Amino acid sequence: MKYQPIIGLEVHVQLKTDTKIFCGCSTRFGATPNSQTCPVCLGFPGALPVLNKKVVEFAIKAGLATNCKIAKRSIFARKNYFYPDLPKGYQISQYELPICEHGHLSVTGEWGEKKIGITRIHMEEDAGKLVHSDIPGLGSNSGVDLNRACTPLLEVVSEPDIRSADEAVAYLKKLHQIVVYLGICDGNMEEGSFRCDANVSVMPVSSDKFGTRTETKNVNSFRFVKQAIEYEIERQIDLIEEGGKVVQETRLFDPDSGTTRSMRGKEDAHDYRYFPDPDLVPLVISDNWIEESRISMPELPETKLKRYQTELGLTEYDSEVLTATRELAEYFESVISEGAQAKTAANWVMGEVTRGLNESGLEITESPVTPKQLAELISLIDKGTISGKIAKTVFDIMWQKGGEPAKIVEEQGLVQVSDTGAIEKIIDEIMSGNMGQVEEYRAGKEKVFGFFVGQVMRVSKGKANPAVVNDLLLKKLKV
Ligand code: ADP
Ligand code: MG
Ligand code: ZN
Repeated sequence: MKYQPIIGLEVHVQLKTDTKIFCGCSTRFGATPNSQTCPVCLGFPGALPVLNKKVVEFAIKAGLATNCKIAKRSIFARKNYFYPDLPKGYQISQYELPICEHGHLSVTGEWGEKKIGITRIHMEEDAGKLVHSDIPGLGSNSGVDLNRACTPLLEVVSEPDIRSADEAVAYLKKLHQIVVYLGICDGNMEEGSFRCDANVSVMPVSSDKFGTRTETKNVNSFRFVKQAIEYEIERQIDLIEEGGKVVQETRLFDPDSGTTRSMRGKEDAHDYRYFPDPDLVPLVISDNWIEESRISMPELPETKLKRYQTELGLTEYDSEVLTATRELAEYFESVISEGAQAKTAANWVMGEVTRGLNESGLEITESPVTPKQLAELISLIDKGTISGKIAKTVFDIMWQKGGEPAKIVEEQGLVQVSDTGAIEKIIDEIMSGNMGQVEEYRAGKEKVFGFFVGQVMRVSKGKANPAVVNDLLLKKLKV
């Protein structure tokens, strides 16, 4: 029997606000345990939550960027469960009326272009963290760190529209790119700022009824998501083939073995006894607020990608590379707005600039060569002041030591020689010193031409204008 996998993803996006969702405590990562807490996030009875406006603004932006409808009225709900890192005994989340619904993202790959539905996006608070440690003489201990409690999250729930691990990764990468572009999430997957629960089931291809799903929790890298889903598909197929049944459960991914294992039986929604949180009034969002959020959003990667191709005439590949991050795209666009032509700017950013960054381990925002300086360098090539080859030398100097391109060219005597007299003189000398090669060329061995070009460039220290060199060489060798 052949099987069809069905996949739906729940993604937790940690929002990049300074303070928590229902109190004024800092959200900074890595502080001393429990140093960023107050009666609200410690869950003291009677302490009242106050909604952080920034969280709502970020949720609206995420919704707009993923083609969702923004609810004019949404409700916070209590999701009840017991866990040591959840002192209130419930998590404030949204249930029946979430802030965003009915969205989608398009993902492209070997399957073509495909729309993945987004069921809902809701706001919620994160729980704290249990810290397990071995203290010599005391044995193993568990402590609780509530710094993370009450940190704002968006949960983005997809429809079960995904059909393979590769589609799942493409969807995740796209969502990740969007929230980072929007500036609402730092995107750091290792620190858990963007993590995914993968729901997987399989069914016979002939069936139209989805199989029982398992949910693999908190997978925090694209590679792990692919591994976890592929493992789970195999495991479920094998299980069914052996006559067994998949049970609805929560599973854990183990990165070391690339496998998943059962963690606990999966709760159903009714187990949580959701009910509207009486401490929080319904959230009402005006049209005006939605419009303001829309206007303040940056151009999104998908729009940029299309615009680079249609407006700037770049290839799809170049456009993809340059829009990969908002910072890189902004650098590139600044080079253009400083006067460089798009294709040339693209080549420099994807070539020398990227090489420089890789070699020095810097981010694009830390590039020692500013967009303005790069544009000036390019204009020196366009004006014929320096050759493209010399420009690379100038670029290296700018990168290593800083400085303005025109000044470096002048100081180092790198101005291109286009004076025919001077170049002719060099050619004459080279020809008379290499009569053998001259004869060979004249006897029809055209390959020797390159040898002469090389010699002229060497003697001129790369400064001879290549076009002039070609012209003159052709003339002189022919005679
Ligand atoms: P819960 O919180 O109980 O996991 P949610 O509604 O938040 O429920 O999320 C359910 C997720 O599981 C969604 O992403 C949905 O697309 C996915 N899903 C639902 N049914 C299946 C199925 N049979 N196989 C795979 N994924 C499924
Ligand atoms: Mg879930
Ligand atoms: Zn607090």
